[in-house]
Amino acid sequence: MALYVQKFGGTSVGSVERIRAVAERVARFVATGDQVVVVVSAMSGETNRLVDLAQAIHSDPEEREMDVLLASGEQVSIALTAMALIDQGVAARSYLADQVAIHTQGQHTRSRIKKIDTERLRADIEAGRVPVVAGFQGVDGDGNVTTLGRGGSDTTAVALAAALEADECQIYTDVDGVYTTDPRVVPDARRLDRITFEEMLEMASLGAKVLHPRSVEFAGKYGIALRVLSSFEDDGPGTLITVEESNTMEQPVVSGIAFARDEAKITVQGAPDVPGVASKMIGPVSAAGIDVDMIVQNVGAAGQTDFTFTVKRGDYADAMRLVRSVADEMGAGEVTGDNRIVKISAVGVGMRSHAGVAMRMFDALAAENINIQMISTSEIKISVVVDEKYLELAVRAIHEAFELSGNGKEEV
Ligand code: ADP
Ligand code: ASP
Ligand code: MG
Repeated sequence: MALYVQKFGGTSVGSVERIRAVAERVARFVATGDQVVVVVSAMSGETNRLVDLAQAIHSDPEEREMDVLLASGEQVSIALTAMALIDQGVAARSYLADQVAIHTQGQHTRSRIKKIDTERLRADIEAGRVPVVAGFQGVDGDGNVTTLGRGGSDTTAVALAAALEADECQIYTDVDGVYTTDPRVVPDARRLDRITFEEMLEMASLGAKVLHPRSVEFAGKYGIALRVLSSFEDDGPGTLITVEESNTMEQPVVSGIAFARDEAKITVQGAPDVPGVASKMIGPVSAAGIDVDMIVQNVGAAGQTDFTFTVKRGDYADAMRLVRSVADEMGAGEVTGDNRIVKISAVGVGMRSHAGVAMRMFDALAAENINIQMISTSEIKISVVVDEKYLELAVRAIHEAFELSGNGKEEV
């Protein structure tokens, strides 16, 4: 007998039929004696619909109210999923985050799970009932409804698995595992049997939507066995996120390609080339809660330097406004920007022991005549910024350059 936390994402609960399929799957586990805690997201498209409604009221809605609004999507799916389980003859009860309770801290719309009370869930499990918990939401110290950031239901599931000491956290989604890149962009991408936490965390943080970055961080920290599986197929091993690096075969140089479509860059020309300029430019942006990602400062000439950095596209207008005012104050030149850029990254622990990885990536882009606007590297990743119109072409070219395609792909 094992205890599983099983999370079903938006498409997996996207219709009455899909919810019934989820209930049938859970019922099969329960029938073999396993204990299951279910986490569900809102039905597919619902969270976006709610965001659009808020935007129609106000271009910059109050974040507290945004959380109350967005959390409503999951309330619908927990109730429907519990009903479907009961219809299958499985005792089940739905729970909102504050009923469990899932305590969070930090800012609205991007809060973090601090602690989960397990009493109520354990009582259900002991009594043979399946708790169906709302993903993505929490309750803060003042009793406010909070949310964990888009895609955050994965993190709810992993945090529950940690709190309940579950045997495995299974993330059921619309693909049958983690691939070498998004299979929607590169159809011959290959499913990985295993990927290390370290690589998965990079992939997720660099834009691979399949897992919420914090869920990977949590699973790594608490040693949770985390597996990505398809809710549309009956069996198949999925992808196990693991601590071990593969030692049975030679470690590939690059394990996967991730990309983020929603990037923007801001350039300050002719900033004074003196100490403290970077911190003066970035300071107000960070203080406004905007994440600054890649930063490039050119070699100065004639006492002046150019300075470029990237932010998420949604923060572009705010960041631009803040930087313009700092640039004016310090007597810098023109502030320009581009919000039609994307970031593409090659990730792999194998990079540590291989030279020339960056060149392979740059050559692949050059061969397609794609101009690289910015570059950043770390021990296990190389990221480039290119014009958004080259996204698909660039991802395919890099994927091919590292020989990641599906030759020998396991049949599932
Ligand atoms: P859910 O609603 O189940 O949480 P998401 O849409 O958040 O599902 O995540 C699944 C999607 O992630 C897939 O449909 C796929 O398009 C995308 N994706 C991006 N990168 C990868 C990758 N490397 N491997 C698998 N899927 C990926
Ligand atoms: N429903 C939320 C979203 O669309 C959370 C999730 O799907 O994980 O972002
Ligand atoms: Mg998701």
